[in-house]
Amino acid sequence: MASKLAADCIFCKIVKGDIPSVKLLETASTFAFLDIGPLSEGHALVVPKYHAEKLHQVPDSFLAEAMPVAKQVAAALNVENYNILQNNGRLAHQEVPHVHFHVIPKPNVEEGLT
Ligand code: 5GP
Ligand code: ZN
Repeated sequence: MASKLAADCIFCKIVKGDIPSVKLLETASTFAFLDIGPLSEGHALVVPKYHAEKLHQVPDSFLAEAMPVAKQVAAALNVENYNILQNNGRLAHQEVPHVHFHVIPKPNVEEGLT
């Protein structure tokens, strides 16, 4: 279930500022920052500002806030080609057990970026 920040969670520590991150933007219940291991330049994450592990454990109000934030991140990064990714559970490749949406820009291969 959604709850307050968890003491042993990496993303909770980022939200709290205990672990540094490159913050892109913040709303009442979301925090967006750059991924530390980017799949492409500008790879960003959008997370709730409270601890919840999986998508079905966050209220719809977070989703209503997170999607516009993902749009704003894409606009701030000035990307037109990108993927939104969201993993739930270890078998589905979720490494960090704090809900997050990836915003992954698709590089322009014509510019030699792969
Ligand atoms: P998942 O596989 O859980 O969907 O994605 C987790 C993402 O979190 C990965 O892309 C990984 O690079 C990123 N990540 C893990 N630890 C940190 C961290 O300490 N800081 C930041 N900015 N990103 C992290
Ligand atoms: Zn957390």
